Amino acid sequence: MQNLEDYRKIVGAEVISSIYRKARTLYDLKVININSTYYGGGVAEILNALVPLMNDAGVNADWRILRGTPDFFDITKKFHNGLQGGSVNLTQIKKNLYTQASQTFASYCHLEVDCAIIHDPQPLPLIKFFRKRQPWVWRCHIDLSDPNLKLWEYLKSFILRYDMVVISNPNYRREDLPVFQRVIYPAIDPLSSKNMDVNGKMVDKYLEKFGVPRDKPVICQISRFDVWKDPVGVVDIYEKVRQKVDCRLVLCGSMAADDPEGRQIYDQVVERAKDLIEAGEVILITSENNILVNVLQRSSAVIIQKSTKEGFGLTVSEALWKEKPVVASSVGGISLQIRDGETGFLLDPQDLDGFIDRTVEILKHPALGEEMGKKAKEAVREKFLITRLLSDYIGLLNDIMK
Ligand code: UDP
Repeated sequence: MQNLEDYRKIVGAEVISSIYRKARTLYDLKVININSTYYGGGVAEILNALVPLMNDAGVNADWRILRGTPDFFDITKKFHNGLQGGSVNLTQIKKNLYTQASQTFASYCHLEVDCAIIHDPQPLPLIKFFRKRQPWVWRCHIDLSDPNLKLWEYLKSFILRYDMVVISNPNYRREDLPVFQRVIYPAIDPLSSKNMDVNGKMVDKYLEKFGVPRDKPVICQISRFDVWKDPVGVVDIYEKVRQKVDCRLVLCGSMAADDPEGRQIYDQVVERAKDLIEAGEVILITSENNILVNVLQRSSAVIIQKSTKEGFGLTVSEALWKEKPVVASSVGGISLQIRDGETGFLLDPQDLDGFIDRTVEILKHPALGEEMGKKAKEAVREKFLITRLLSDYIGLLNDIMK
């Protein structure tokens, strides 16, 4: 378990001292975070690192999970897609199933806290089922810039009860929402098993264990099997790239507990890449394993992130922190993380030729990737590490408790 002191060697003493200073007004403040999964996906990743560090800074921070049935997660995945612009058939049955999970949770979970932070749409209705005695914050990790409007109007009936909404990008700010909206960029934990330094022996061991040969360069996308991450599009790119430079594709996507669509999208990828998978040229991995993600990011020649929508995209900062060249879509939070041509490459998600050309360019000229990687790591150090996120949350708590 890390404590704040461990980060001093990465971000410097002044950053650590300023966090302790800012937290002085918050000693023993009881804060609860609620989301709907312990693992899989960016929210669980962040809370795993953030909640213990909040405690180390002196805040009394807790983390609970809203339980749900498979039906509930089917619906909330539809809502997630709808918030990113997908269509939703919003029936009364769906609304009932959606609110039921919050109502049940409220019947046994006692919120004796000074502030509640609710993450994403799954537990959003909780606020309706508790007697509100403290400020409530809705922390939305999704791109809200173009939601399905019928769904948005329905969800607003809960959001309007909140004291503050936190979004990941200034572009997600909604003019039609009269609740204070604060921007906090997500961040990665440089000391977690996913991002810590690993030695060559460990890399060899994990690649062997998960069946990834090292005879040719690997291009890789690490992402849940999700339509918005466009894994089929990555296979399209790979097919063209390998005609120019011999390489292998690894798609690594664990199945998040709150994402029931994973299997379906995985099957689509298998269908699309059947021959390449049989030939061992495309490797699909569904294990949940942080060190494996770490090793894959470090040992790949190019990291692709071909999302068509992306609330933030922690995988991008994870790869940049490891000094890896990233070729990614210029959507949502990805555009915040990469300076095009300097710390990676940004492309329109429809521009397949662009993705192909940039990937081939890096494979042919590894020195180009190395140079970008060094700058990329410094950019992440400055803006996207967990210490900055912790400091932002402490700032938020200071403001909301005034
Ligand atoms: N991840 C993982 N194993 C996988 C695929 C993803 O641990 O097989 C992690 C990934 O490294 C990142 C998080 O899940 O930390 C995904 O966060 P991101 O913001 O990229 O996307 P989200 O899944 O939240 O849409």
